[in-house]
Parts: sequence; C-alpha cells; structure tokens
Amino acid sequence: MPSTDCSPKDSTKNEPVAPERPVTLRGIGVSDGIAIGPLLPVGRRERQVVEKELLPEEIEPEIVRFRQAVDATRRELQRVRDHTAQALGEKEARIFDAHLMIVGDDFLIEEVIARISARRRNAEIVFLEAVGRYMDAFKNVEDAYLRERQTDLHDVVDRVVDNLLGISDVDLSSLPGPCILAAHDFSASQTAGMDRHNVLAFATCLGSRTSHTTIMARAFEIPAVVGIPGLMDQLRAGDTVIVDGTRGLVILRPEPATLRRYEALIEERKEWFRKVEQELSLPAQTRDGFRVQLAANVELPEEIDAVRSTYGVGVGLFRTEYLFINRATLPSEEDQFEAYRKTAEEVFPQSVIIRSLDIGGDKFFSDIAVPQELNPFLGMRAVRFCLSQPEVFRCQLRAILRASAFGKVRVMFPMIATQEELAQTLALLKQAMQELDERGEPYNSHLDIGIMIEVPSAALIAHRLAPYVDFFSIGTNDLVQYALAADRSNPDTAYLYQPGHPSILRLIREVLEAAWAHGKWVSMCGEMAGDPLLTPLVLGLGIHELSMSPVALGPIKTLVRRLNMYEVEALAAEALRQGTAREVTELCRDLLRRTAPELLVAENSAPAGATCTENRCA
Ligand code: PEP
Ligand code: MG
Repeated sequence: MPSTDCSPKDSTKNEPVAPERPVTLRGIGVSDGIAIGPLLPVGRRERQVVEKELLPEEIEPEIVRFRQAVDATRRELQRVRDHTAQALGEKEARIFDAHLMIVGDDFLIEEVIARISARRRNAEIVFLEAVGRYMDAFKNVEDAYLRERQTDLHDVVDRVVDNLLGISDVDLSSLPGPCILAAHDFSASQTAGMDRHNVLAFATCLGSRTSHTTIMARAFEIPAVVGIPGLMDQLRAGDTVIVDGTRGLVILRPEPATLRRYEALIEERKEWFRKVEQELSLPAQTRDGFRVQLAANVELPEEIDAVRSTYGVGVGLFRTEYLFINRATLPSEEDQFEAYRKTAEEVFPQSVIIRSLDIGGDKFFSDIAVPQELNPFLGMRAVRFCLSQPEVFRCQLRAILRASAFGKVRVMFPMIATQEELAQTLALLKQAMQELDERGEPYNSHLDIGIMIEVPSAALIAHRLAPYVDFFSIGTNDLVQYALAADRSNPDTAYLYQPGHPSILRLIREVLEAAWAHGKWVSMCGEMAGDPLLTPLVLGLGIHELSMSPVALGPIKTLVRRLNMYEVEALAAEALRQGTAREVTELCRDLLRRTAPELLVAENSAPAGATCTENRCA
C-alpha cells in the first residue's frame, strides 16, 4: 500500500504548527507562476483499519457492505476511465482496464466473502489479508508486466478500503471549482484523469523536477511546488493558500498583508506577460543585432499546437518518454511514427529534435523489465537502457526516421557517456535505416544526428565525439546533478544543485570549443537555458540556440531583446574567473537587475508578511 507518511526525515524542518497560524513551507518550485485559492487536500492519511470480531448476525450485513464497497469502486473507476478517454483518448484510458479487471475478479471477491463468514472478521481486515497474498505473489513473478500491475492493485485496494470506511476521496476528474491541490503525491491515474481546468496549482510532499506531476504541471502551465516535507500535516481543507511556483513556496492561511502583496505580484506578472506577448512576434535579437534561436521543450504532443501558434518556434527537445509511460503495452512503431510525423508536420517549417527514449532515473513505464536499482540515476537509464534493448531501440529509431520524410526531423541521444556507446548507437541507427531500405520506406538519410551532453565524461571528451555527430545539446539538468553529485530530485541536496557552479561553466566551454573546432553546432535544452538569471551567462559563454519550457519562451525573448552581446560576453568572461556558484550568481543577478528587474526572483525568500517555518533550502 502506498505510504501515507509525509513526515520529514529531519523533524526540525517544516514542523507541524497550530492550524490557524499562517505558515510558509518551502519546497522545490517546479512550475513557474503564482496561484491563490482554496485548498483541497487529496489523500487518505486519516484512514485507520481496526480489526473487529463479528457476531453471527453481523456476518450477512458485512458481506452486503463489502459488495457495496466493491460496486462503488467499480463505478468510480469506470468514471475515471470515461473521463480519461474523453480528455486524453481511448489509448490512455485503457490503463484503467487493468484496475477494472481487478475489481471485477470474482475469485478474489468470493474468497473475501467466504472468509468473512469463516473468520468472522470485518471486511476491511479480511480483504486486506486476501489482497496481501496477491501482492506477495505479484512481487515474486518473473513477468515484468505482471509485476508492474502491483501499482494498479494498490490503487484499487485503496479505493475499496476507503469505500468500506466511508472515506470519500476527492474525485479529481470533476472538481467542485477552482482549487489548489495538495497531496503526498499523485498517482498516474489521478493526474491522467484530472479536471485540470479547475486546478489552480499543485503542492506535494514527494516529487522532483521530472516527476509525473511536475511534467504535467509545466505542460499545462499550472504553478507547482513539490518536495515539501510535512505538507499534509499542516493543512485544512478550504484554507486559503498561496502557491508560489517561482520561489518554491507554499503559504498556508496567509496574513492579509501577504495576500495583498501576492495579489500585487500576480498583477505585476500579468502586466509583464502582456508586454511579453506584444513582443512574441518580434525576433529574438539582442540590442546589438545578434540573433538567438529559441525553441521549445515538449513533453506532451498536445503542447505542440501552442508552441507553433503562440510562439512560432520549433521543438528543441521532444521528450518521447510520454509515449511509453502510463500505458499497458509498449507503443508500436506505428503508434510512435504517427506521433512523430504529426509533430514534424505541425512544427514545419521549423524543425523538431526528437530525443530517443530516456527512461529510468525517476521516469518509469509499465511494460518493460526495468531492474530495481540502488541508484537509478546512475543505472540503466536512457541510452544505456536502449542499448540493452536493441529491438525496442530500433523500433523507435525506425519510427523517428520515417517521420523525417514529413518535416525537419533531427534525432538526439541522451546520456551518452563514452565513445563506444556513441558507436553502438550509431550502428543501431544505421541498422534501422537498412531495415527501412528493405521495406522501401522513405526517410531522410541526411537527417541531423546529435547527442545530449549531460554526463561530465561526454563533456570532457566532446572533441572525440564531435566528428561523429552534427550537433550537441547540453542537458544541464543532468550535467549539474552528475558534476556536483547531487541527486536532482532530492530536496535535501538541492543546495548543491548549482547550475552556476564554475565546474559547469568550464564543462560548457569545453563542449563549445570542441564543437567549434569541428564545425558543429551546440544548443542547450536543460532548464538553465530558460532561467532568466542564467540565460545571459549561457549566451555569453557562446550558446545561441536555447530550448526551454514553452512558458519560458516569452520572458526569455523579452530578456534577449534587452541584452547586448558584448555585455553578456563580458559577464561570461568574468564568471569564468569566479570560484563559487554564489559569486557567479551574484554577477548574473547584477546584470538582470540592470536589464530586466521584473524577472529577478528573490530565490528562497518569502515576500514580506509571510511567516516562515524552518528553511531547508536557504
Ligand atoms: C537535461 O538533462 O538537461 C534534459 C534536458 O533532459 P531531462 O531533463 O529530460 O533529463
Ligand atoms: Mg537529461
């Protein structure tokens, strides 16, 4: 059963406080923006299952109660399935067929009913014992697909027990009105079926920049703060809450002065975005006439429309993981081809860089045996995983290649760490091309091939890798985590997660020099590219192609239009002489203060009026 314990490892952090007091909680701001609204806690931490011995006359009513709970669960799941089919399509909705199958399993239901009579115990206890045996059996099966079905089983079990206990959880597919959701974490079924037009913001105990909830939040431009220890201990439904996704703050029951300050901030933001919108059609060009190439990072195909119509840019990073996760089976070559072709056609005449599957780390999927690892970020992730599953890899490569006949498609490989890995990857790409030749399928045999530079070893041997590729794309999200050995999803090591660290600047310069020496182009698609504080530095270092979350495109274009290339180059030269991230960041802050103070975020500082609890991020 999923843990419902949100308590922090260190009890001095985000300690529970008297419920009526205003309190500011710190987490990781993962999706920009500010929202104010009523709180809706989602979760079942109140649940307590107590064993009860039944009198003979209580047995029959207990069986009826159990049947009713199962029926209610079935109806709930059917509703979620219908909603998902409507919102996301039939394919995504099929994930709930597995849930429905479990709740319709006569064998399990009859077993529970028989045991209620035989053991004369309440339904919750008997049901949990029975499914406990199922879960143990699941744990030991060889088949990865069946093993993965454990998650579905957990979800169904939670729902049945809640129905037995009369705990009604929030129906996320139909929210009562605009609200801010707070939860320990959201399951795949919850985010997929969410009534997102009524979700003003998210706050969760767990989560990382790349967790499921986070990716959704950013894609739908919903402010979000994750990784907040103790969050669920501090909440009351209906409380007014401020979620400041930009600063990573959640303010519960704010003082009137704080509310006013934030309302003013929202107005300032709106005003700023109105200005930004007016500049959207203007070129991303510095004051001294230097053109910068902007592109979007895309997680979900449904974002493409806005990328094209609102921002008119291409796609610098198409994360393909979303085609693979939260589904019962692997996507076929045809499924993938359709998604890639559609994207290529929609963004044309701009280009799309399709990144091969980056599964592992903290992204998971349902159908392939991913070994349980002690350090998943250092394990069988991304291209390592793909090289270990050449059939799956070649299937994706064929789909990407086929899409290249329908637009400007480029392909890119994540997590390359060695020259041998690159050679193996290119060999598989060649094989995929030969397979298409044999089938007579068209593709662009001259499509640009690139690798992500996100492992320090690759940055340091970039001069060795450059001859084999057309471009590098620097993935700072991972480069920073691997260079500073700071798990990007661990709130406790967030203080070490420093994109402005001198080591990162040196790695970037190394990559640029190698690329320039070989006449190759370099882009950046990590979050650093779209962080207004650091974008000038990135430009000054020599990267002029930046790919970022669509929501960052407007502000960054406005920023670019206020910069001078000579200024940012001087900033980079000065930054390269510093010894600490703090010094580098100070230089960047100075420049931003002078050029676009609206974009300056006082990181980790609560605006005046907010009462802070212990701060673990400072
Ligand atoms: C990165 O690591 O910077 C990157 C863009 O890839 P992802 O965030 O998907 O790992
Ligand atoms: Mg990465």
